[in-house]
Formats: sequence, C-alpha cells, structure tokens
Amino acid sequence: MNILHISAECFPIAKVGGLADVVGALPKYQKEFVTTSNVVMPFYNNKFTQSNTFEKVYENFIALGHEYYNFKILKLNNNQLGFDLFCVDVPCLIFKEYVYSNDDTERFLAFQIAALDWILTLDEKPDVIHTHDHHTGLIPFMMSNSFKYETLKEIPTILTIHNAQYQGWFSHEKVNLIPPFNFDNVGLIDWGGNINSLATAIKCAWKVTTVSPSYMEELKIKANGLEDLLNHESAKCVGILNGIDSKVWNPETDDRLIKNFSTKTVLSGKKGNKEWLCKEFNLDSKKPLFAFIGRLVGEKGADLFPEIFKKALAENDISILLLGSGHKETEEKLTSMPKENFNTFIGYDEKLAHIIYAGADFLLMPSRVEPCGLNQMYSLRYGTVPVVNAIGGLKDTIVDIENKNGFGIRHNGVTVDNVTKAITRASEFYSEEKEFKKNLKRIMSINHSWNNSAQEYVTLYKSLKE
Ligand code: ADP
Repeated sequence: MNILHISAECFPIAKVGGLADVVGALPKYQKEFVTTSNVVMPFYNNKFTQSNTFEKVYENFIALGHEYYNFKILKLNNNQLGFDLFCVDVPCLIFKEYVYSNDDTERFLAFQIAALDWILTLDEKPDVIHTHDHHTGLIPFMMSNSFKYETLKEIPTILTIHNAQYQGWFSHEKVNLIPPFNFDNVGLIDWGGNINSLATAIKCAWKVTTVSPSYMEELKIKANGLEDLLNHESAKCVGILNGIDSKVWNPETDDRLIKNFSTKTVLSGKKGNKEWLCKEFNLDSKKPLFAFIGRLVGEKGADLFPEIFKKALAENDISILLLGSGHKETEEKLTSMPKENFNTFIGYDEKLAHIIYAGADFLLMPSRVEPCGLNQMYSLRYGTVPVVNAIGGLKDTIVDIENKNGFGIRHNGVTVDNVTKAITRASEFYSEEKEFKKNLKRIMSINHSWNNSAQEYVTLYKSLKE
C-alpha cells in the first residue's frame, strides 16, 4: 500500500506548529505497516532547503485561472527523513521563506493543483491520499469533481483536522482559480456564502480524522461555524490521538540538550539543564520552574498570561520562563513585566524549546482549545509535569494526581483563578520531594510514541480499499 501525505508543513523542513511535527513523524512510523508513506509539501526558500540538495523529477505549467505558472517537483536527495519528500516549487508564488502569509489562497491553490497535476502523470498512483488541514482541503473536491482529475476519482482521500479554527475561506469571485468542474456541484465548496476549504474537505474526503478523540467530540459543539457540518458527517469522522517522534524527542540522545539523561539519571540530567536555563535567564534554580512554550494566541490562553503570572508569582515561591511569539499586545505586556523570578524569550527557538522541556519542573498549558497538543507529551518524556486545562488532547493524555495513577495537574476552565490555583497545587506537589521525584521517572516511561496511532491510521486506510 502506498500512502501520500500532502501538507503545508513538515518537520524539519518548515515548521510553524504541531502540524509539522505530525507530518514529519507519521510517515516514518507508518512505513512499518505499508510499502511507502511519502510527503508532498510546498518548496519554501528557507534554511533547510538552502542547505540540502534536491533532484528535479517533474516540470510543467499549471493554470491558475487565466494565468500560467511554471512549476517543478523537487525530490530531496539522500533519505535522511525516513521517507521520500517531494516539494512543489512554483517560483512566482511559493518560493518564499515564510509558510503562511496574506496571499495564501493563490499560493496554496497553486500548490494543490501542481501536486495533483504531477500525481496524474505517475505510473504508480498512491493508494490513499492523506490531506492535512485547510491548506490541502480542496484536493478531495478537485479529485472527485474537476474534469481534468477524472482518473484520480477512485483514490480514497483522508482529511486530518489539526486545527479547525483556520478554514481557508475565500470569495466565490475566485472560483475560476479552481480547475473547471461540474457547476451543479458548486455547493460542495460553499459554506456560509464563501468558499471554505476545510468545510469542502469535510464534505468530500472519504474519511475525516481529528488529532484526538476528545477534539472530535468538542468540534461537534464548537468548531468556528462548522458544528452542523461535523454532526452531519459524523459517520465518517474519527479521532486518532497523535503520537510523538520518540526518535527525535529522546532525552538520552537529544543533541540540543545541555545534559542528556535517562529515567535512571533524570535528577542530575534535569538539574544540568535547569541550571543552564536559570543562569541564562537570571532565575533561581532552587525554586520550582514553570515554563510555557508556544504561540501567544487566545487559543493557548495567552491573553491571560500577564495576570496569571503576576498572581502566581505573588502567591507562590516559584519562577516562570516563557518561550513564544504571537499577539503583539501580549508580547509587549509580557516583556514589560518585572524580571523578578520571571523571564521571556519572544521568538521561535527549537533548541531552547528542547532545553526547556528538559530543564523545567512544570509545563503550563492553559489552552482554551487544544486539538491534541504535543507539548504535554514532550514534557512527559523529558520528566516535566504538565499543568493543563482539561480540554481536547490534554484531557485524553493527562490524568490529575488526585486520581488513581495520576501524574499531572489538571484544571477545568481557563480563568486567572483556576490557573493560579493549579500552579499552587503544582508547587505543593513539588515540595513533596519523594513523591515528586518518583513521579518524574513514571512520566518519562509513559509511551506516547507514534507506533499505535500510525497503525490506527493504516487500519483506516485499509478499510477504504476493501
Ligand atoms: P500548535 O500546533 O497549536 O502550535 P502543538 O502543541 O500541536 O501546538 O505543537 C507545537 C509545537 O511547536 C511543539 O513542537 C512546540 O515545541 C513548538 N513550538 C511552539 N512555539 C515555539 C517556539 N516559540 N519556539 C520553539 N518551539 C515552539
């Protein structure tokens, strides 16, 4: 069985969030169960593509409305990723550094059309095409409705929703950018009077998955306008929990860390990373260190961080370190807070993120929406206790210490009070030294590797070929 993933992001080539981590890991793990599982993504002009070599495997022109653009399919040389990576290079449109911008409609349409044009020419077609989020959401529609892709109609398609907030809306005035199709079916691309790429994929993909079972249930109640559609299509929807790439995220071998460690050496290992962090960010390494890593947006509860941190620091003997970027107002409020037991790094830094997972004592995730969340799984693997709002994937992966076999801290709902109370509970847990240290070894041993979930996806693919 040959699987082809089509995605806007893939780690380590281009990463904005969890989508990249999933697409960079899942194919690798699926290869144990299928013949090939490869990835197609846009070609970005970034550090990775500049420092690696590619071979041109196809070249042609795509039509985007009345305009024609030259495109190439470039295959990454040397199999360093554990799967084949194909990049769609449309120099006039996609050849830029950033992943997302304000001309996404044209860029991602060009990407999707070029990918399908190339697939049309392949002698051996994929058995299943797996699309991810709205950036690739028109593919299931085009495959089943655009005249030029008639021969791809029988290939099953899957959509995985990593985040339903962003849906790839655009006006019907741009409908001519989509390769010609039977206009009787124009209703399939419409949702609420606009073309909606994510809604289109939910209607047209053969199966729809979300990145955790709880997120699927939550979307039926709150999905930025897609609730009715998801309820209507629920028979073909299923939640499959993401895994983590335990080859990349391994504290024993992670070369980004200051000090590597295993469950046996967790105490000294974490101490080495924590001391480095505290020196770097002027914090007291004797206090429990709470950290946040992520996008500073409302979904992550970031608008409340200044108030939460102020209250939590006043009521507890702790330090807080934040790594992230996002809303400018939140960034400014956070950077202007007194640097007393508190510090921030505004920006994106993969190495620092790894050191924080390893050196912090607690990871804060007061998310209002969390489709799966990978950070809590990375933090478990690196012996850092997650403090989470019980929502989406956080609800599916974290059990509160109050419960039998509990190992993390959960709160219900994101308010300043709820989160600070959870932080207080966490710091009390930290002072129960013996229990706390025992818990570190336990959380490191929880298996969140991709093996199980990769197999679940393969079972789903097989069900479509029966
Ligand atoms: P989302 O995709 O909603 O942003 P996820 O938890 O699914 O959240 O994935 C976030 C990923 O991005 C994790 O690998 C996390 O470590 C990483 N990340 C987020 N922000 C930063 C940052 N500022 N610096 C480094 N890594 C980051």
